[in-house]
Amino acid sequence: MAQLSEEQLKALNLKVQEIAKLPPEEQAERAQELLTPEEMEFLKEQQALRGQGGGCVFCGIAQGKIPTKIVYEDNDFIAFLSKDPANPGHTFLAPKEHIPLLAKLPDNLASRLLILLRNVSAAVYDAVSAQGISVLQQNGPAAGQTIPHMIFNIVPRFDNDKVVIDMPNIDLTEEQMSEFQQRIAENMKKFGTAATKPEDSTPKKPIKFRGRGP
Ligand SMILES: [Zn+2]
Repeated sequence: MAQLSEEQLKALNLKVQEIAKLPPEEQAERAQELLTPEEMEFLKEQQALRGQGGGCVFCGIAQGKIPTKIVYEDNDFIAFLSKDPANPGHTFLAPKEHIPLLAKLPDNLASRLLILLRNVSAAVYDAVSAQGISVLQQNGPAAGQTIPHMIFNIVPRFDNDKVVIDMPNIDLTEEQMSEFQQRIAENMKKFGTAATKPEDSTPKKPIKFRGRGP
């Protein structure tokens, strides 16, 4: 089984993204030019294993091919420390299956993932005596998603830390706001609401925010 380092996987991911942008009839030829035999081998194995998501770093971690500091794992999900932490305890939580975007997350995983997100966040928060938690989830390159495997960033926060989440305001008229409200509300009929009534899953240890509070 081909083994690639995390750096090699990142490089491979960039190549795969470049190839994916091409028209289908040009992809095979470009892949021959760009990819090394080891990378081709790795992709074939990945595709055989998953059917999709070949070369994905998070799939590599989920399959145990890339060593990482795992803090929680079950059949469907994995949580592990970021190798480039923004703060102590910075943790990733992901489905093991190669699910590229939040929008592609099936119902059976979605509800459990939110429960797990809450519990991993609490475990992280407590472990590093944080003062707050930021949860980030990015979809698509425009949003800053670099690896097409959906993931939550769980970032413990501290007063005066160096993390910047910048959302500058834009100006919209009252009419524009009403238009967006109407369109989104209308879309909810198309995209659906919560599929089922959630079972009781009250947090065992609710977060009490320290410092300035949320
Ligand atoms: Zn993946």
